[in-house]
Amino acid sequence: MKRPDDWTILKLLQWTTTYFKEHDIESARIDAELLLAFALGLERIDLYLRYDQPLNPDELTRFRTMVKRRVAREPVAYILGAKEFWELEMAVGPEVLIPRPETECLVEAVLDFLKNENGPEAPRFLDLGTGSGAIAMALARSCPTARVVALDRSCAALALADRNRRRHHLEDRVDLVAGDWLAPFSDTRARFDVVVSNPPYISSGQIDGLQPEIVRYEPRAALDGGPDGLDCLALIIGAAPALLSPGGAVFLEIGHDQFPAVQRLAHESGVYRDVACRPDYSGMDRVACLVRH
Ligand code: GLN
Repeated sequence: MKRPDDWTILKLLQWTTTYFKEHDIESARIDAELLLAFALGLERIDLYLRYDQPLNPDELTRFRTMVKRRVAREPVAYILGAKEFWELEMAVGPEVLIPRPETECLVEAVLDFLKNENGPEAPRFLDLGTGSGAIAMALARSCPTARVVALDRSCAALALADRNRRRHHLEDRVDLVAGDWLAPFSDTRARFDVVVSNPPYISSGQIDGLQPEIVRYEPRAALDGGPDGLDCLALIIGAAPALLSPGGAVFLEIGHDQFPAVQRLAHESGVYRDVACRPDYSGMDRVACLVRH
């Protein structure tokens, strides 16, 4: 028999939402739902059909542990160990940046470029700093004939990217390479149609001012782009042309105010014929596209 003081799904959602709000967590209700659904092994939508269902002690303990982690401002994606990107579920952990919706604009820009340029039958992509492998998997999934090389210097990140590669059955078309930016290719004749990257592009001094979720939990190496945030962007813009086939392009995710600097860097290198920028869903400059002569 149900006692009136039982913690039902509805009561827990209400309590947790208030508790999260008190701790300045913006998406309080959604986070409560995501965590509770996960603790119960349900889809979020199922919660609504079971509002009166009480939790058993095990479920309650599991949920409490997750609530504590969230109140310490750990991102939901790390607690769940997963984040959706490009409609693919990606395994994530503290060793990689959580894939962001804005980064889907980068994937979109690459796909549009191939379509408009009448790109090669079987395009070759290089994803620099692949992290969870989100960009690499999204591109491989969207271009069934493409081959992707995904590189990261962190072996922990590559292990996670490998999990995502297997999860989405892309082992035969996505190669994972350990290395520092373009160094592994310096002695090779490898050529790519597109080099893509969401590199660290936040200036070092700004990182500590970001949300606690980011500052405390996401890998600093995936965020920190040096004094002006441009270190990795400059490196890629300078070195990528040697690996691009003629007419190939570099696609970079950038900060909202970095496009003028990217234009300058591209101009200085003297090897790009076309430099353009695309906004993200909130209208901010987000993706730079540099086409090689
Ligand atoms: N390429 C990965 C992503 O876009 C990781 C990016 C990074 O760590 N800066 O999610």
